[in-house]
Amino acid sequence: MATDHPIRVEQSRRDVLKFAGVSFAAAAAVGGVGGVGGVSGVRGASAAIALPRRAGQPTTAPQPATQGAGFYELTLGDARVSVVSDGWFSFNPPHPTLAANATKEQVEGALKDAFVDPADVRVQVNCLLIRTPRDTVLIDTGTGGAFGATNGTLLKNLSNMGVKPADVTAVIITHLHGDHMLGVLNAEGKPTFANAEHLVHKDEHDFWAAETHDFSQSKLPKDMLPGFIAGAKKVIAGAKFTLVDGEKEVRPGITVVPSAGHTAGHIAIQVDGGGGAKNVLLYMSDTVHHPAIQFPHPDWAVMFDANPDLAVASRRRLFDRAAADRVRLSGAHIPFPSVGHIRKQAASVGKGYDWVPAMWEW
Ligand SMILES: [Zn+2]
Repeated sequence: MATDHPIRVEQSRRDVLKFAGVSFAAAAAVGGVGGVGGVSGVRGASAAIALPRRAGQPTTAPQPATQGAGFYELTLGDARVSVVSDGWFSFNPPHPTLAANATKEQVEGALKDAFVDPADVRVQVNCLLIRTPRDTVLIDTGTGGAFGATNGTLLKNLSNMGVKPADVTAVIITHLHGDHMLGVLNAEGKPTFANAEHLVHKDEHDFWAAETHDFSQSKLPKDMLPGFIAGAKKVIAGAKFTLVDGEKEVRPGITVVPSAGHTAGHIAIQVDGGGGAKNVLLYMSDTVHHPAIQFPHPDWAVMFDANPDLAVASRRRLFDRAAADRVRLSGAHIPFPSVGHIRKQAASVGKGYDWVPAMWEW
């Protein structure tokens, strides 16, 4: 296998390391990852197409480097809410990564049911910007470009919206995994959003800041843990965090909703612009890593969950809350523009949930 597909095997190793929260060079330093010192895109692994072509044409189909859209805006009463893309990265192989407590056949079957190629699973990264009459609040900061050429687009997309880093008055980090917080610091190790108050849940901060870390429930490979810990400690040390505890409105209309399990202090964010459920959006962050997996199978737990049982319970609680309240949902890894509703599946279909993407609003 390794000799037949060297690019794919190397890429898979990189995919897993991406979550470590540090660059591959740094991962090598802290985690003993020998020989992997650089980062590159993944498109070189594309298979040749079968369409006829003229002599001299390339053997692979050209793929777009970018799409036209990198942000999507909604008006929710007094709040302007924007889903802002930080790009995407590969998530291969999908098992056990996407569902450590399901079989390979089950995971690949669920992906195929959603018309996703199990050999090419991509996970998107979406942040949320909330503008109210008094605040400009950024929920998560993306990868900071640490995961390769296909991500780290947050600042560019904010610029395209006319938003400068200095405009952001608060940064709320849903949890201290690399794809959510490596954008907190710039290349000089200083806060990217220099005028912002940074907020994180107390349990999240305290877990990573501690000398020892309880991963006894996690299915994460042991050799990945040092990278996760180093990434979180670096960000905690580089930015001053205000610690939040319990369900709390941290800015008018912006409420932290604890949803521990994926990490010790993982949080969701509820935005309420006033005027009823139609102006409420619940950003679930890493409650869902892939729509083909955790909507129909909410009991399947990703390998990255610190406490899988607790993560499943939090997911069901948020899903039930959003379905009952009929509010819109968004999430870090739900495909862009990452806005929709959720409903319980009919008993004849299953015990999961259906994701119903919202109509695109122009
Ligand atoms: Zn994530």
